Amino acid sequence: MNSDNLNKVRASLYSVADKAADYLESLGTRQVCSTSTSEELFRRLDRPFPEDGSPAELVISELVNDVERGLVASVGPRYFGFVVGGATRASLMADWLTSAWDQNAQVYATSPAAAATEAIVARWVVELLGLPTQSSVGFVTGCQMANFTALASARNTVLERAGWNLNKHGLFGAPPISVFMSECGHSTVRSALHMIGIGSGQIREIPSDSEGRMNLQSLQEEIRRATGQPMIISLQAGNVNSGAFEPIAAVADLVRSENAWIHVDGAFGLWTAVSPELRIRLEGLERADSWATDAHKWLNVPYDSGIVIVKNPAQHRTLKTSRCAYAGEEFEDKRDGSTWVPENSRRARAFVLYAVLRELGRTGVRAIVERCCMLARTFALGATKLPGAKVLNEVVLNQVLLEFSSSTVNDGETFHRAIAAQIQLEGKCWLGATTWQGKAALRVSICNWLTTEEDISILLETLGRTVQNVMHRSPGRED
Ligand SMILES: *Cc1c(COP(=O)(O)O)cnc(C)c1O
Repeated sequence: MNSDNLNKVRASLYSVADKAADYLESLGTRQVCSTSTSEELFRRLDRPFPEDGSPAELVISELVNDVERGLVASVGPRYFGFVVGGATRASLMADWLTSAWDQNAQVYATSPAAAATEAIVARWVVELLGLPTQSSVGFVTGCQMANFTALASARNTVLERAGWNLNKHGLFGAPPISVFMSECGHSTVRSALHMIGIGSGQIREIPSDSEGRMNLQSLQEEIRRATGQPMIISLQAGNVNSGAFEPIAAVADLVRSENAWIHVDGAFGLWTAVSPELRIRLEGLERADSWATDAHKWLNVPYDSGIVIVKNPAQHRTLKTSRCAYAGEEFEDKRDGSTWVPENSRRARAFVLYAVLRELGRTGVRAIVERCCMLARTFALGATKLPGAKVLNEVVLNQVLLEFSSSTVNDGETFHRAIAAQIQLEGKCWLGATTWQGKAALRVSICNWLTTEEDISILLETLGRTVQNVMHRSPGRED
């Protein structure tokens, strides 16, 4: 940076802080949905490739103007779609600093500060979630990569125990691994398995109950059938639709095999470990071999931030076999963040986690989780009073599945999609339509630290009004 650029940096950061604050201030009034079509966004953003550069200020102010209408206000309190959290104040501030510091969290030598912060946050997360203290922790982009990392460690370990060194012999010719998961397991678990060389033919999808939990008797039979084979069982703590938990202790009791690995996908549900009241659904949590979760969902930090935890660090370490020569031998006893994750060079995500965990503390995390669950119950209770409404799931967490029957609209999927689309279009709230156990439904997920009872009242009012509108709209009319 020449001195001219250096002089401008402070002004640039202040001006962008103003733009960011303008955006966050607009959350109270702006529409939650994107108000732009894709064509419009391309019309604004798509320029011929720039041969010559432009002044930074101009680039940024045009970017703000050009994307503005295509943003989804999921950081605000009335976004109830998918499972998306917001961003607390300290986490946002630490995120900006992470960019300004621009540390490479690859190894100790590239950033002693990032390495120390990672080591401390790793210990804090394990303590907060009540997991075995010696567990190793990796900081990844999201739960997809957390599942990937955990399942790769699982694969390496069960093969090793079966007498097969994967890192030496590769996957071709290896003993088959049986993998068991619920048919309602998350798509990213399937994707992770495929990425680590385990095909659909090796994955037994266990039939599941009305809440999406695998049937234990079927699991038991499958386990018996696979006796003697290496096996991996992937459980869910918090189904992405119903919020249901699979019983970890009961599954651990079933597994008599010497060579089985239990993984828990707890992308958001794992955070209930902080609540003494909710933690009962996680009974036996510490008996699993690995856990995957997201901080960018319920912990309310900016994207992206996932966490993988493995009980036995030596098994976690099988992920990476070589340490780069320039990492520095004198630092061998220090933490190299990239040992525990698929990436090499990487963002120092631990600063944000450090900040949010200090900002909230155990009581703060617990308050967010418990409040969201309480609001989900409030919403479910209010929704059942709407004509034709039925809650399809046991509201044990922050997820509510809502079905409406209509005498005027026969096609449930079209009906629910129309309700969701109209709510999205109006822009006060955002929720999505889904299919649950063969039924069309609306899905509400509450995981934002800013959401209050008032937001739930607005959602209920919007929903009641919209359902009436859609129901009484003359058939065939599209608006
Ligand atoms: C969101 C989610 C994932 C995937 O997490 P990403 O952060 O999107 O990679 C995996 N499992 C469950 C249960 C989830 O809810």
